[in-house]
Parts: sequence; structure tokens; C-alpha cells
Amino acid sequence: MQIRVDLHVHTQYSYDSLITPEDLVFYAKKSGLGGVAITDHDRLDGALKIAKKTDFAIIPGIEISSLNGHIIGLNLQEPIPKGLSVEETVDRIHKAGGIAIACHPTALLKGSLGKHANSKFDAIEVINSSAFPFSYSVRKNQQIASRLGIAHVAGTDAHYGPEIGYAYTYINSEMEIDAIIKAISKGLCEPFGKSIPTILRLKREFLVLKRKF
Ligand SMILES: [Zn+2]
Ligand SMILES: [Zn+2]
Repeated sequence: MQIRVDLHVHTQYSYDSLITPEDLVFYAKKSGLGGVAITDHDRLDGALKIAKKTDFAIIPGIEISSLNGHIIGLNLQEPIPKGLSVEETVDRIHKAGGIAIACHPTALLKGSLGKHANSKFDAIEVINSSAFPFSYSVRKNQQIASRLGIAHVAGTDAHYGPEIGYAYTYINSEMEIDAIIKAISKGLCEPFGKSIPTILRLKREFLVLKRKF
């Protein structure tokens, strides 16, 4: 069977996200997703907590700030520390039984890996709905993933509920976390999606700012 999963969503456990656990499930269901990976910045506790509380399929993940750019680890039970080299970060993810995704490797202003995306990764995030410039980054990411011969995936990098669903990964798998992870590492998946509209991005920026004052 084919399922749709957004592999990159930030909840309010990320300092810069507005998404509550209720928002997450509401918007994911509304967009017809079968599951969502929670990938908060350098913390896993929120993802584990939310996964336990809901029946909706949640893949516990983390977006790690490595020395040379952001790396997503999926299917983890323990956080991976930030500030390590790319090599060590990926090794630690694998040792912990997870998979490593080079997220938005060519996006500007995002702490991207650039040339540090290598074949030790399990997947390249070809489509990231928040990436700028969008079309350029998708084209470049496709080239990287094809050259490395690893899986192509997609995620929204959503920080605001209505952003969920603009991108997703089609995965040939049962709706079960281990099966999903295995399917991605075998490349049995395909990225789909588009850019988050500017009006939504602005609305989110406004709401995040408003929260600060
Ligand atoms: Zn990032
Ligand atoms: Zn992110």
C-alpha cells in the first residue's frame, strides 16, 4: 500500500513553531496524511510525548544542528547532541537505530549542509516546502540525491498548522513505523509537493512575532 507522510514538522517544542499537538493531528488529517514525523530543533522529548498521547501515526524525530548544517534523524528514542561533525551525527543516528536525512541541503538562510550531504545519509530531502529559493533548491537537491543514489523524500518544515500538507512523501509501506523507516532506507518512496504560499509564510511570521510581545 502507499501512504503519505510529512517527514518534517516542528511543534511548539521548537522555539520557533506555533504547532500544538492538537493542530498537528487536525491539519495532518485534514490534508489526508497517514502519518507525520515530528522533527523539533535539537530536542526529542516533545515528539516522544505527543507520539504516546495520540493514535495518529507519529514518527519520533529530531532536527540536529550539526557543525556543518541541519540533519534530521528519524525513529529515535534518545536525542542526538548538537554541535557534532556531520560524520559523527550520522553515525550516532544509525547506531541508535534511526535513519539520517540531509534536510534542505541547498536552501539559503537555513543552516544547510551543502557539499556535506554524502552517501552515508539514507535520504535527501528533495522537496522542503519552506525552502528558499524553492524551485532552484528542488532541482539542486534532485541532482544530489540522484548522484548519491539514495532515497528522495519531502517534508513541509511546517512551523504553523495550515502549512502542513504542502509536501509529503509517498511511501510503499504499511502504516507502521518500522516498516515506514525500512521502506525509506530502501528508497521505496517518492517526494511530492510545493512551496508554502507567501501569504501563509507572512501570517506565520506575524503570529510568531506577536507571541514574543
Ligand atoms: Zn533546518
Ligand atoms: Zn526544520
